[in-house]
Amino acid sequence: MLHVILFPFLSFLFGCNEGNKDKQKTPAKQVNSVIKVDTIKKVDTIKALVSTPLNYDTTKKYIYLTFDDGPQNGTDACFELCKKLGVKATFFMVGRHAATPHLKQIVKNIKNAYPQILLANHSSTHANGKYHSFYQHEQMAAEDFYLAQKTLDVPFKIIRLPGNTSWVREGKLRATSLTKPVCKILDSVGYNIIGWDVEWNFNHKTANPVESPEKMARVVAKTLENNDMNVKNHLVILTHDRMFRNQNYTDSLAKFITLLKDNKNYVFETVDHYPGLKKLN
Ligand SMILES: [Zn+2]
Repeated sequence: MLHVILFPFLSFLFGCNEGNKDKQKTPAKQVNSVIKVDTIKKVDTIKALVSTPLNYDTTKKYIYLTFDDGPQNGTDACFELCKKLGVKATFFMVGRHAATPHLKQIVKNIKNAYPQILLANHSSTHANGKYHSFYQHEQMAAEDFYLAQKTLDVPFKIIRLPGNTSWVREGKLRATSLTKPVCKILDSVGYNIIGWDVEWNFNHKTANPVESPEKMARVVAKTLENNDMNVKNHLVILTHDRMFRNQNYTDSLAKFITLLKDNKNYVFETVDHYPGLKKLN
């Protein structure tokens, strides 16, 4: 059982957007035993959610604030802050991180907060941090996402790949040669894959944010001004829940969101409203 206790701690330090992190690897046997704790029978089966199509206002810029790798230390702080400030956000969660009743409850709370907050799929194992090997075995990788879809009870077929900003929407695939095979499989069974346009980076030793909220607000403005995004006028921001676990950094997140909210041209949305997704219901 030691790995059940250790994994959330280890995963706290390492995230999506990084190279090969052998330090956090967990032997495959142990991972499987963690997954088996969550049998499908135990999964919450609340009523399926329905995503309503959005009519975009061409005078607005759409902001998709996303938090990766929860449930973990910091998820609740981000969740409560988004609710308090009244902004929409998406949590891409990892199946095996939901390893305790408390963490499972956080996942449920997030799912139940739709349409303000969206729960989405960020794999079951986060590739064990070994991204190259994970994506080379595309069928196993696809099954890793199917498992997370069930164990987390994710409402829509929306995925973010661990450690890789690939995109798959209706008729559009944008991926590296490494991730293309799994993207094609996931596309063929109706999944959408959402990458990111800008990242609020974190220090890989402390997990604390690198940029100030003011700097990140400027990055957002500049990226929108230059139209340097996957889809014009639609900006996806990547952050990680654990970056904001301490109060001073929760305050940084609050400052960032407030700065964006002050711009009346910005509209916060959840990623189920990203343009051109395949049918969600
Ligand atoms: Zn991640």
